[in-house]
Amino acid sequence: MKKYKIAVIKGDGIGPEIIDEAIKVLDAVSINSDCEFVYTEYLMGGNAYEITGDPLPQETIEGCKNSDAVLFGAIGGDQWDSLPRDKRPESGLLRLRSALDLYANFRPVKVYDQLLDASTLKREVIEGVDLLVMRELTGGLYFGQPREKGEDKAFNTMVYTKDEIIRIAKMAFEAAAKRGQKVCSVDKANVLEVSQLWRETVEEVAKDYPEVSLSHMYVDNCAMQLVRDPKQFDVILTGNIFGVILSDEASMISGSIGLLPSASVGGLVGLYEPIHGSAPDITGQGIANPIATIASASMMLRFALGEAAAADKIDSAIDRVLKEGYRTKDISLYGAKEICSTTEIGSIIADYASK
Ligand code: NAD
Repeated sequence: MKKYKIAVIKGDGIGPEIIDEAIKVLDAVSINSDCEFVYTEYLMGGNAYEITGDPLPQETIEGCKNSDAVLFGAIGGDQWDSLPRDKRPESGLLRLRSALDLYANFRPVKVYDQLLDASTLKREVIEGVDLLVMRELTGGLYFGQPREKGEDKAFNTMVYTKDEIIRIAKMAFEAAAKRGQKVCSVDKANVLEVSQLWRETVEEVAKDYPEVSLSHMYVDNCAMQLVRDPKQFDVILTGNIFGVILSDEASMISGSIGLLPSASVGGLVGLYEPIHGSAPDITGQGIANPIATIASASMMLRFALGEAAAADKIDSAIDRVLKEGYRTKDISLYGAKEICSTTEIGSIIADYASK
């Protein structure tokens, strides 16, 4: 029996609700497999600040480093918005990404056939979409120095070093080589020097991957193309700020932000999390969609633990649940046989995944 150490960070808002469902499904899938998961919970975000005065206690960093993988819900909430930047929940997450060197964020966008009508886009535009947003995660505007907020003036700095661009570009080309052999690098090279370096460097890296075709697109055009013709994309390679915006936009291709998982990798331990935030507007109502988090747990099994068969079971269980018409509220208008709460849909997925 293989034993895996999973660091669990539930976080704030709907974080605990969705993580509980992912754990339920992981436990169910372990029943008929030869692996066992040992979970240790760590604090991060607003709840960590309330308890320890720090949104990322050192114990959390050490615990994550000593695990096989990290499963994370979401952080943030209005009540912490007026704190100084280094005390805010978001700063805990950014620091953890840096501490674990998680520079590559894989955000796959998949369309479930059963939810083709859940998207605000037409069926013929989205049917068959299968794209991956490869977002750089530990550089760019989120981390650049100097940064300052004054009374009358505030600024941030977008910085990328050549080495940072090379390593994320390699990830994108390697991913594309195993998928549709296309990378579209997204930047704003017509205006930003940092994007000009990005573009030149991506061109250099591309020479090592002759089987993968490379195109470039400005980010404003990409935002438009994603809704015009999303099927043109295979791997979208982009920086931190452009990636977060484009992947939220791309989530509506699938019908709900509550469906999209992500994996943040690069260092020794990967972190697996839904792309959405802590959704304070629906916290505690039992209506959050846990599928993004359950699918993130599946990515964790596949990529961090090499348990592809167990991951397949989870993915099939999600497919089956949607096929049979079980829906959380966010996707309830589309082919619903039964509207389920967060825990109900989690239990059905767990039941199917255990078989
Ligand atoms: P959000 O992603 O939390 O919510 C946006 C909208 O999507 C809301 O209407 C919400 O109800 C809905 N939604 C999100 N997840 C859902 C789910 N699983 N099921 C059903 N509906 C869902 O973004 P926001 O409202 O801009 O931010 C809220 C808080 O989350 C802020 O404090 C923000 O800083 C934080 N945030 C955290 C992360 C993270 O932890 N990785 C990411 C983004 C935002």
